[in-house]
Amino acid sequence: MTETCPVCRNEMNQAFSGVILKKNKVEYFFCKTCGLLKTEKPYWLAEAYRQAIAETDTGLLQRNIANSKMVEPILHCLFKGKGKFLDVAGGYGVLTRLLRDMGFDCYSMDQYCQNLFAKAFDPDDGFRANALFAFEVLEHIENPREFLKDLFDTYSCKTIIFSTLTFSGDIPKKNWWYYAFETGQHISFYQPRTIVFLASTLGCRYYRLGPELHLMTDMRLQGFLHMVLTHRFVRKLFALSLHWKRKRMSRTWSDHLLLKSMINSGIEKQSPKP
Ligand SMILES: [Zn+2]
Repeated sequence: MTETCPVCRNEMNQAFSGVILKKNKVEYFFCKTCGLLKTEKPYWLAEAYRQAIAETDTGLLQRNIANSKMVEPILHCLFKGKGKFLDVAGGYGVLTRLLRDMGFDCYSMDQYCQNLFAKAFDPDDGFRANALFAFEVLEHIENPREFLKDLFDTYSCKTIIFSTLTFSGDIPKKNWWYYAFETGQHISFYQPRTIVFLASTLGCRYYRLGPELHLMTDMRLQGFLHMVLTHRFVRKLFALSLHWKRKRMSRTWSDHLLLKSMINSGIEKQSPKP
């Protein structure tokens, strides 16, 4: 049994089978060329996403706070803090609100979730971004090459900061927690070399910012910029000094005034219901 790799379009071979959602025997395929590991065509996703997992997600706020602190030095260094940024799987809009509080002109969209915290900051038609974010997204995507190309084309942007846990070398054993057999939502698993391949097909470069944090961009990072962004310890030190500096740039109050004036003038953005 074989499949075609969505990243490099070479043949993938059967790696092992697993039981998803306690009942579906699912085949996993591995691509020797680019290192992608993925499930067979995921017919179980409707059921996987029907499960009420949001209520048990006690780490949601902590993850968003941590992500905002990781993103702050990256946006500051790459764009001097200027430009427009879009969280393409923004959920309730928490990360967008936190980044706006840090002074970044950030927007949020999510086709599966109602934007509660950044309702006024969903992107209009023709929105052009300087950078996109996709936290905890790529492991849910069946065809990452198409997914990223669509995003880059739609938002005229070839820079994306994203998280996904990568593996290296051999196929991880079946007890690897990231397979998440019980929820059935993780369907694609990447190695750093898979992301290198993916980046090159999209005319970008890949920079590994950490075991779970990645940057794909058509910009070239060199010298000090490269050192700050790709060395986690240096980046954290830089972020500490930056955090205080950027406090003065916060959009918390100016957004408040903007929203108040929108309400007073009868303009209210309707975010799409999930
Ligand atoms: Zn491949």
